[in-house]
Amino acid sequence: MPKTGFEPEVIYEGIPASPGIAIAPVHVIARGFSAPEVYEIEETEVAGEQERFRQAVELTKRQLIELQSRLEDLSGDNERGIFEAHVMMIEDRAVVERVLGAIASRLQNAEYAFYAVMQNFLEAMRRIPDPYLRERTSDIEDVAQRVLRNFSPDNDSRHLGPDDRHILVAYDLAPSDTASMNRRHVLGFATEQGSVNSHTAILARAFGIPAVVGLEGAVIDVIALAPAILDGYTGKLILHPTPETLERYRKLSDEKAQVRSSLEAKRGAATETIDGRAITVSGNIEIIDELPLVKRSGAKGIGLYRTEFLLLNGEEMPDENHQAEIYTRIAREMSPHSVIIRTLDAGGDKLPVEPLTEPEPNPFLGWRGIRVSLARPAMFREQIRAILRASAMGKVAVMFPMISGLSEVWRGKEMVRRCMDELDKEGVPFDHDMPVGVMIEVPAAAICADLLAPEVDFFSIGTNDLIQYTVAADRVNPHVAELYRPTHPSVIRLIKRTIDAANDNGIWTGICGEMAGDIRLTPLLIGLGVEELSVGPQQVPGVGQAIRSLSHAECAAMSDEALRHNRSQGVLDLSLNLARKRYGELLD
Ligand code: PEP
Ligand code: MG
Repeated sequence: MPKTGFEPEVIYEGIPASPGIAIAPVHVIARGFSAPEVYEIEETEVAGEQERFRQAVELTKRQLIELQSRLEDLSGDNERGIFEAHVMMIEDRAVVERVLGAIASRLQNAEYAFYAVMQNFLEAMRRIPDPYLRERTSDIEDVAQRVLRNFSPDNDSRHLGPDDRHILVAYDLAPSDTASMNRRHVLGFATEQGSVNSHTAILARAFGIPAVVGLEGAVIDVIALAPAILDGYTGKLILHPTPETLERYRKLSDEKAQVRSSLEAKRGAATETIDGRAITVSGNIEIIDELPLVKRSGAKGIGLYRTEFLLLNGEEMPDENHQAEIYTRIAREMSPHSVIIRTLDAGGDKLPVEPLTEPEPNPFLGWRGIRVSLARPAMFREQIRAILRASAMGKVAVMFPMISGLSEVWRGKEMVRRCMDELDKEGVPFDHDMPVGVMIEVPAAAICADLLAPEVDFFSIGTNDLIQYTVAADRVNPHVAELYRPTHPSVIRLIKRTIDAANDNGIWTGICGEMAGDIRLTPLLIGLGVEELSVGPQQVPGVGQAIRSLSHAECAAMSDEALRHNRSQGVLDLSLNLARKRYGELLD
């Protein structure tokens, strides 16, 4: 790593989204237009780089003038202004001077200095309240991309290539970016946007990639190639760490590795409390690549397969045969354990199943989950048939997302019955007793859990959504992250109410939201009476060990007290104190 020890240490604070420590140079990518290579230059190379910038601008200007005259030939005078404005943009003295200055002060190649200045400029424009000016950012991005293409590609060997191990810094990452990340090279990532419960963060945890989100200004402020430490435990990105900081983090990283390997030794051990209450620990998966991770984790099944991730990379939902193949593979590989396949939960912050004609004003309160499946019966039917076909090859259950009332359950079950009849007639084998469950993630469902319970075989509480809808705080909006509290008295009361309704009707309740993997809360959840915790593959061993360290009776007494508490922090403290007493060494 270049320049260690010469620059002052700088610490950026964000929100921890996936635990772990990464030590590597940072690689910055930004939105709008793609980042060029970055490499350091010597002071003697500054004038040459400044000249390369001037030539790229000149070439761009010639191209724009040429484009403008071609456009005038085609369309007369009307479009005349477009490229004129672009030429003015790249000749803007303020921009030119800042780029020349940045080359000299950053000692980085001309294209990267240009890129950094433009990002800064664009970011300022994006914050302008005037929508017209805000929209002009895409014009600037176009011109900037053109200038970048016009630099001569005379790379030298000092740039950070995609094959080098690095910490990725980006404005935002889509779940598809995270899923397709080369995990050998990306040791961790930090983003300006995002939140702990976004699907990007969920995937990072599944793959064990340390991540920090909500790092305001990171893309602009962070200098590419700087040596860095990403602390996914406390949410820090430390640039130019001092030798002492490096030493401290190396030690911490070793300690964590030791805890992990001692947990691994107990992988697969029964997950029973010391007074004999069995709690199933299963895994959540989004993509099939996670299957080996779940199997290795010692999980006793899959408690949530998020099938909407089949839509990743803009793909259409696979047809029935293709889906049946995927589900069968998962069922077979997890056998004899069970696999709960959730029907498509598209919409909201997730991928849409089809392009919407108009953007929804409130996507989270809009067309998502079971609502989409019920409105697209042909697609729903294919998915249910595929799930039923897989049920002949292993232990499979189906579960509906975003249930808000009884009629959705009836209509979902009606589709299951119809598909069963069809398959019977076709002589296709399936499990006639395949369990049908619902997610409890809308407050309406939790409040009416007593009405839903007689209709289904199990409940799985989706706390990610249940919390956001209960406290009316968007799960992916960092500005309201403070309000998004899993231990809010209203949330734990809804969980309790759901479990009581399930018990009264002889069905079981699990939790598959992120709360299930937070070992500070394991005492509370066990005390409230959950029977299954479905968590990210990396969290399985820790949750298992937490369960083995607790007594159900002690947890129940604590959670009774928690239910009488009037503050989120008080509830958290009660659970955390018990967790510390019983397995303090596992807590971060
Ligand atoms: C949840 O809402 O808690 C859940 C598990 O579903 P998702 O995170 O996929 O919305
Ligand atoms: Mg949900």
